[in-house]
Amino acid sequence: MRETTRIIRSTLTEAKPGEPLHAGPVFAAPYHAPGDPAGIPYTYARSHNPTWTELEKVIGQMESGEGSSASAIVFSSGMAACAAVFGAVLRPGDVAVLPANAYYAARVLMQDYFVKMGITLRTAPTANNAQVAQLEGAKLLWIESPSNPTMEVADIALLAEAAHREGALVAVDNTTPTPMGQRPLALGADFSVASDTKAMTGHSDLLLGHVAVRDPELRAKLDQWRTLTGAVLGPMEAWLALRSIATLPLRLERACQNAQRIAEFLSTRREVSAVLYPGLPQHPGHAVAKKQMRYFGPVVSFILRDKAAAETFLSKAQLITDATSFGGITTTAERRARWGGDAIPEGFIRLSAGCEDIADLLEDIAQALEAAQ
Ligand code: PLP
Repeated sequence: MRETTRIIRSTLTEAKPGEPLHAGPVFAAPYHAPGDPAGIPYTYARSHNPTWTELEKVIGQMESGEGSSASAIVFSSGMAACAAVFGAVLRPGDVAVLPANAYYAARVLMQDYFVKMGITLRTAPTANNAQVAQLEGAKLLWIESPSNPTMEVADIALLAEAAHREGALVAVDNTTPTPMGQRPLALGADFSVASDTKAMTGHSDLLLGHVAVRDPELRAKLDQWRTLTGAVLGPMEAWLALRSIATLPLRLERACQNAQRIAEFLSTRREVSAVLYPGLPQHPGHAVAKKQMRYFGPVVSFILRDKAAAETFLSKAQLITDATSFGGITTTAERRARWGGDAIPEGFIRLSAGCEDIADLLEDIAQALEAAQ
């Protein structure tokens, strides 16, 4: 069965006469659990919930490559998933190697908490696989490719091999492409981590994260971390995610096609000084991205002259919702430097292509650029 069919059909219940095609969310705190709890799958909902189990099956299957079987564990947000990997792996004295341009909150969490608890942090840019030079004696290599928001690309297979030679575990933040766009475990990573708040669920209405692994011992550590920290999602969110993932193949394909067309269009415009999209042949990471990604993702970053030009562009665009986050069915964009924390110019815009008609989007972008020149 091909991937699109498999993803869509994976959210169905077993075909039993009279049963709904999709099971509803299971709302529970304690479950009936008399006597010895050892053989009872559900006892208390901070540990496990049947709606999570369904969602984990679907995501686990998406993360599995040819011949490699992955298992997923879901969390209340992408940051809860990042924190779970840091917490499950790192102990005082360990070295963690992060991209210098990693997602801002992951960097702050590492710097302000884990470093203060005795972890040594080394950073290097995502581009040109610069993290390779930092690996000696490391316990964890954290990769983000493409990186948010600068869309740099690293060679995951090459970095994973180098890290494993040093005895380090490898985690990839795979948020921008989703496991349909890129499968880190098949490329050699030990953890595939994502904020499923973004394209994976794609409707801008829920927070969700997951970590996928092949090793049952790593899974057990993450599972224990989730139960002890209570980084759990509600059953309603898990159920909404199952509904949303069934349309991922349609949404991702359209959003990535739109992103490619927008990136190509922006590259022809004199108002735009740079376009950062791995699907463009002139992007420095294009060859690697082409090798390891099946879709280049919905996020296109580009640079306008200055803050005023970026603000004018955003206020004049009628079909681009000015909002943070990305991966939704609606096209959104923001002037990213308004948050601080990333080494980017004031005129830097991170745009997330939605699923609208591309002709409408290009017309709208053209008129907003003209207003911003
Ligand atoms: N990783 C990346 C690359 C992200 O872009 C984000 C959120 O923007 C996160 C992790 C954190 O995800 P969440 O907001 O679901 O906690």
